[in-house]
Amino acid sequence: MKYALVTGGSRGIGRAVCLALAAKGYAILINFKSNEGAALETLHLLTEQGGKGELLPFDVADPGQTQEKIEGWMAGHPEDVLEVLVNNAGIRQDTLMMWMTTQQWSGVINNNLDSFFYVTKPVINSMLLKKYGRIINIVSVSGIRGVPGQVNYSAAKAGVIGATKALAQEVARRGITVNAVAPGFIETDMTKDLDAKALSGMIPMKRFGKVEEVAAAVAFLASPEASYITGEVLSVTGGI
Ligand code: NAP
Repeated sequence: MKYALVTGGSRGIGRAVCLALAAKGYAILINFKSNEGAALETLHLLTEQGGKGELLPFDVADPGQTQEKIEGWMAGHPEDVLEVLVNNAGIRQDTLMMWMTTQQWSGVINNNLDSFFYVTKPVINSMLLKKYGRIINIVSVSGIRGVPGQVNYSAAKAGVIGATKALAQEVARRGITVNAVAPGFIETDMTKDLDAKALSGMIPMKRFGKVEEVAAAVAFLASPEASYITGEVLSVTGGI
């Protein structure tokens, strides 16, 4: 069985990615941190559309737990192959730099950037052995342009973009592609505190994006057809 691991698959963009990859025939490992009800709803939705999946909860910001859960799953599934990894889980804690605490800085770096290393490390070795893999990192327009009030988040996402480009070159010869998708403003729990009406005015398409519009880009990069694309950042921003 071919599997795709989607971190933060319980809600928002991650849930839509789970459904899109399940529709492509992948069995889905739905990762989440604490919201089991939402993760079960993702599993229910993908089963309803004829897909297959299972929950794999762990905190992506905890290196020991992440390694244990991923390696444990692999040891229990010697016949299965983890072909796709979507590093999607993330948080934001916005404030101006002058008010930012050390906890707000390191919490956001830990959950968005360190987690890339913690999750990808145990997965990459098996992809190297199989000489095939698709890694897609969900970054942000913040990591490309920098956004005031998001010094921590912009730094973390820019860090993941650098890591994407470097890792892509390390593993290109082994049939593994590493790309990033950079959403703009997307309708999810993460953006529900924002003034959508005011912000939409700054977006050329005059609206927030839908999770399915991000998932479609991820599904393309995860497909065999995207075999000659690596080290790229695909923006899904409505023209920002
Ligand atoms: P969301 O609706 O807030 O969902 C976040 C997901 O990440 C949830 O499934 C959550 O699990 C999981 N998660 C958070 N911290 C975790 C941890 N330490 N370990 C494991 N899972 C964790 O977020 P979203 O809007 O879909 O965002 C998804 C990704 O897109 C993030 O990387 C975000 O930075 C990026 N992004 C979003 C937007 C946007 O406008 N929404 C724009 C640009 C980039 P629980 O359900 O268990 O809490």
